[in-house]
Parts: sequence; structure tokens; C-alpha cells
Amino acid sequence: MQLAPSLHRLGNGLINSYLVEESGEVTIIDAGVPGYWGDLPAELTAMGRSLEDVRAIVLTHGHSDHIGFAERMRRERHTPVSVHELDAALARGEVPNPAKGLGPAKIGPLLRFFLYAGLRGGMRNRPLGEVTTFGDGAVLDVPGSPRVILTPGHTPGSAALHVASLDALFVGDAFATKAVTTGQEGPGVAPFTADAEEAVRSLARIENVEARWVLPGHGEAWTGSVAEAVRLVRERAASQ
Ligand SMILES: [Zn+2]
Repeated sequence: MQLAPSLHRLGNGLINSYLVEESGEVTIIDAGVPGYWGDLPAELTAMGRSLEDVRAIVLTHGHSDHIGFAERMRRERHTPVSVHELDAALARGEVPNPAKGLGPAKIGPLLRFFLYAGLRGGMRNRPLGEVTTFGDGAVLDVPGSPRVILTPGHTPGSAALHVASLDALFVGDAFATKAVTTGQEGPGVAPFTADAEEAVRSLARIENVEARWVLPGHGEAWTGSVAEAVRLVRERAASQ
């Protein structure tokens, strides 16, 4: 799905993988679920690009619903995959998911989420055999030159990625605009968060970023300001 000419998304908005194009080359930000691999060629074609043009996969964090087809692409096409250094072991499947249970859940949305993920191979995710790492503040040498802003809490190495050329901030699961476990819409702490208080504190690190597109791992694009989204997450967190 096209968000802007150089910015596309795989999936229906429940689990997001983004394609970012700059000067004919593409970076994939989060690789969703394994089944998105089958959707990738057509989405690239819609951008006027192909698999040959994909230079890198960058992960906002090491959770399985963001790793998706990354290992397959790395093995078959030698596409480099990177993640913040604090989430590298998680991405390689060497440590358990630090999330403490589901948090609040409703059976309908929860089943929809697991069915959506399950039908797209979400239960047979392969961890990464190899992953390169980056640190806070790094500007990555990949198309779009994302700047890393560490936002720990969801996982220790959760990072937002600012792509100034697209006026876009990819927040990963620093917050979500849809809670996949309850169906609640609007900015809130993402489900499966390891440390919700830390996640809310981390939002101070992104709230002054100016971006036309604020793109979460789960839910639709937020088109208000980052500051407004952060205010709403804090408000909801304080009321829970
Ligand atoms: Zn996620």
C-alpha cells in the first residue's frame, strides 16, 4: 500500500512493514511476519522497484512480529539486517521475550491478531542467524539514512528511526496506534511491552521530533504531531 511515492507499507495495518525508497534504492523497516515475503515483489513493483533494489532491512526491535521474513531475505539475497545492540540477542533468538504477559486483552481482537499473524507464518518465525548492530544516535548508511533514537521500554533495544528525507518517524512499538490485544485505537503503550513505565519515559526522547508521518509497528499512520501522540500515550497510561 502506498502512503507516499517513496513510502509503502506491507500488511493491513495490524502488523506493519515499511518500504522506504531513496534514489532508486530501498530500505525495509521491520519485516512483519514471514508471509509478507510473498507480498514484497508486488509492493516493490508498485514503487517502480524490485528485490534487486533492496539494500537493507532495519529492525526497530527484536520481536518476532518485526523480524518476519528478515532471515529468509538475509539468507537468500544476502540483505544485511540490523537492530540496536541491546536487542541483538533477542533478534537471534538467544534470550526469551522480555515482555511480561499480554496486559489487558479482549478475546475478539486477540484472536484476530493471532489468526492474522498465524495465517502469515507468524508462528514459525525464524530468528536471525546474523545481525549487525547500531547504537543510539547513529545515522545508518542505508537508503533514507535513518537516524536512531533509542526508546527503551517495549524492549531494551527498541529504537525509533527518523528518516528526514521522507519527513517520517518510524516508532516501532515505542507506542502503537492500535492495541492489537484489545482493539483500542489511538496512541497508547504497545501490548507485549517489557517495562511500560520506562516506555512512557522514553517518549521524551522523540516528542520534539517534527515529522509529517509517524509510523507505528501496529496501527495506522499517525498524521498529527509526534508531541500530540506522546501526550495521548501519557494520558492513557496515567488513566490505567
Ligand atoms: Zn510489534
